[in-house]
Order: sequence, then C-alpha cells, then structure tokens
Amino acid sequence: MSVRSWGNYPRVDHAAVLPMEWRHLALPQTDHSILPAGLARSYGDSCLNEGEALVTTARLDRLMEFDRASGRLRCEAGLALAQLLELTVPAGWFLPVAPGTAFVTVGGAIANDVHGKNHQGAGSFGHHLRRFELLRSDGSRTVCSPDENAALFRATIGGLGLTGLVTWAEIALRPVRSPFFDVETIRIEDLDDFFRRSEEKTGVRDEFSPLPAGGPEENSSLTPVFDYSVAWIDALATGKRLGRGIFMRAHHSPDPAPLPPPRAKISMPFDLPGATLNRHSVGLFNALYRSRASPRWKRSREPYGKYLFPLDAIGHWNRMYGKAGFLQHQSVIPRADAKAKLAEMLSAVAQSGDASFLTVLKVFGDHAPAGLLSFARPGVTLALDIPIRGAETFALLDRMDAIVRDAGGAIYPAKDARMSAATFRASFPRLDEFRAHVDPKFSSSFWRRVSR
Ligand SMILES: Cc1cc2nc3c(=O)[nH]c(=O)nc-3n(C[C@H](O)[C@H](O)[C@H](O)COP(=O)(O)OP(=O)(O)OC[C@H]3O[C@@H](n4cnc5c(N)ncnc54)[C@H](O)[C@@H]3O)c2cc1C
Repeated sequence: MSVRSWGNYPRVDHAAVLPMEWRHLALPQTDHSILPAGLARSYGDSCLNEGEALVTTARLDRLMEFDRASGRLRCEAGLALAQLLELTVPAGWFLPVAPGTAFVTVGGAIANDVHGKNHQGAGSFGHHLRRFELLRSDGSRTVCSPDENAALFRATIGGLGLTGLVTWAEIALRPVRSPFFDVETIRIEDLDDFFRRSEEKTGVRDEFSPLPAGGPEENSSLTPVFDYSVAWIDALATGKRLGRGIFMRAHHSPDPAPLPPPRAKISMPFDLPGATLNRHSVGLFNALYRSRASPRWKRSREPYGKYLFPLDAIGHWNRMYGKAGFLQHQSVIPRADAKAKLAEMLSAVAQSGDASFLTVLKVFGDHAPAGLLSFARPGVTLALDIPIRGAETFALLDRMDAIVRDAGGAIYPAKDARMSAATFRASFPRLDEFRAHVDPKFSSSFWRRVSR
C-alpha cells in the first residue's frame, strides 16, 4: 500500500496499514515492524515504514477532558490540531505552540516536538505537555510526565514515533481573549535587517508561563508583546540583497470578536507539470509577494487560521511541485555563527539554479530542548522548499548539510528524506541515550537510513 508523505518523496509501499481502533485495545498484530501514523504532514520518510506496517491513529480522535478554568486538556493522540482549536478557541484557550499547518495530530506534534512562530517565548510543543500514555509492543501502558517515567517522557518527545504509540496526551493550553491575531509586517532589505528586526525589544515573553487572563497588553511594561515572529525570504536574491524579504510579528488580539464564516477552500486538483515551478515563476511570485509589504510597519487583524496556517487554505498545495515531489531543508544554526552560515546557504541555493518557493527564517529562543531528539534549540532556523530536479538537487542539499555541520547545527528529521547517518549523529548529540528507549518492534524508513 502506498502512503505519501507531504513532499511526495520517497514513494514507497507498505506491507500493511492497520488502524488503531480504540485506545484501550492492544496494538494490531503483525509480523512486520510498525510505525504510528498521524496525518503524514512530515515531508520525507520519518512517517513512512517501507515494506513494513503503519498503525494509523485517525480513529483516536476523541476529546477526553477539558477543564475550562485551568486550560488543561486531555485528548486522544489522533486528534488534529485544527479540530482541537475549534473546540477550545470559543472557550478562550489556545494551543501554546502551533506549527505552520493545523492538519497535524497531537501524536505527530509530540513525536517531532514541533515548534511554532512563538518559540522565542514559548519553547516547543513538548514544553507544554503534562502527561501522556505510551503503549509499547510488549503490551505495557506507561503514563509519562516530567516527574513520572521522566526518561521515557523525554525520549518520546521528539522521539519520531519509535518509543511506542502515544494513546492520549494532556496539554496545558494558554488563555486568549480573541480568535484573532494583531499582525505587523515590514519589508527587510537583507540579513542584517532580519537580525535587527528579530532583536527589537518588543517584550518576548519569559519561559512557559501561560498568559495571565488580562491578555498581552495588560501584562507587560513593553507594549505590545509580540510573541510570534517569522520572516519570509526571497531566496533568489543575491549579493547586497541576500536575505531580503518580509518580516512579520504578531500577538493574540486583546479584543474579543466572532470569527467570520470560513471561506470555501480551494484545492490543487492534480500534480502540476514539474517545470511549472522554475526561477522565472518563483521570481515573479517573489516580486508580487514582496510588494505586499512596505518599508514601514503595516498593521492588520487576522483570524488565527489565516495568520498561523496560511497554506492550509489551499488543499494539496504540495501538488504544485509535480510528480517528482520536493524536499524541504530545515536547519538550525547556533546564533554566534548564524549570519555567515545563513549567507553561505542562501548563496549556494541562489547560485544553484534551484528555486526555493517558500523560504522561512526565524530565531529560536534559548530554551533547553524538551526531548532527547528535539530539533528546536537556541539558534536561527532556515527552511527552504526545493523541487526535486535530480542528482544536482541532492548534491546541493549535501553541501547545505556540510555548512550546518560545520556550524554545529542540526537538520530537522520531520522535513528530511536524505540526510546521512553522520549528519543525523552530528545533529543529535543525545542519540545514544535515545537508542535505549526505542521499542524493538518499532521502526521507520528514516530510522533505518540514519541509525546505521
Ligand atoms: C505546511 C506544513 C507546515 C509545517 N510547519 C511546521 C512548523 O512550523 N513547525 C514544525 O515543527 N513542523 C512543521 N511541519 C511539520 C509537521 O508539524 C510535523 O511533521 C508533524 O509531526 C506532522 O504530524 P502528523 O500528525 O502529520 O504526523 P505524521 O507525519 O504522520 O508522523 C510524524 C511522526 O509522528 C509519529 N506519530 C504520529 N502519531 C503518533 C502517536 N500517536 N504516537 C507516537 N508517534 C506518533 C510518527 O511515527 C512519525 O514519526 C509542517 C508541515 C507542513 C506540511
């Protein structure tokens, strides 16, 4: 059975795709190795198990408990973040951390310890997990928390689905007054501009303290507090313009207001021909996109979905990359070396003839990683989407890996389909500690590739 990940690469067959019917039942029986499966929003092969079995969690989608006074929520691990937010936002509670798409399950968010645009203040998803239950292949069920079975807790956060299947999880939500974000947008001319904007003292919130009920404006001497920030970069720009793009910062709006009715969703009906995305079409898009911002701050108020998950408005947008698929290269570089190394990577891409349609740059906060294999860590993260054009695309990404390794950085497994075992080892210094927690019956295409 063929299951595709988000990048449509690699295309592999599975021996079986077995549903987990009910959280109290045992894992489905099979002679194959198994891998828990969420919504396959990982780009590469970390959510695939070629020739072996996937255990799907789509039926584990129940809300189990929601305390509207404290914001503690317990749900099954197959619940999608989109559904979770539909339930909690009207009650004044929001996910403490949300990735760039809401079509991700709670289990998937744990297994990649996902980060959002608010990492500087909030850390990653794992920092807000209070407990979860882990079902292992020996039939054992272990409740894990920072105080109970803490080693397994830290191995499972960012543990790539290899330590067992999470059946349910408890998350500490953050209070909000409104389903809207107040967003500010400005053009940036180069990498210096990016760093200047990122470092502007706008009151990044401390540690993981949930927002007090008064909302951001009433709880800081610095007004307003922009918890969220990210930059889109024109990856075709070179020389003095290297790093030019748009910088966006935002916070939860303090004004309660009802959401407008959802717009009809458009969808990409089929894979576009591979040549559609080229330097010319991407160049045109970049010029149009950049013209939306000006050299002065522009303000807008946007529904949370439009601000946090803009690409979710187009169903199957990944088909735009054609049948050959695409690769995302997401790295994090320690702050000290970041500017030089980012310049090296962006120059390599601009000169390669490959056109990255979606290039995103963001500063991570100084939180210690929540899990043994968590990707998010202090530094600056760069993500580039690159259509697969053959061997030269892979050669370019190997050169990018070398730059990242040289800087002491890391590559994100959730986006990867090709990094070497050596790059994986270099990216995750606690790998040996992690190995001890891997369930012997669990495996993935990614794990077999990088754990050699
Ligand atoms: C448009 C887009 C934007 C994105 N933006 C971001 C972003 O901003 N930040 C970020 O960090 N990531 C981002 N991602 C990546 C995405 O958040 C992760 O890949 C996420 O893990 C996908 O979740 P999923 O439910 O689709 O899981 P899958 O992709 O199906 O699986 C991911 C991993 O989770 C494991 N898993 C799934 N369910 C369970 C379970 N119940 N128990 C144990 N393990 C389980 C799987 O075995 C696998 O290892 C983005 C992806 C897309 C497509």
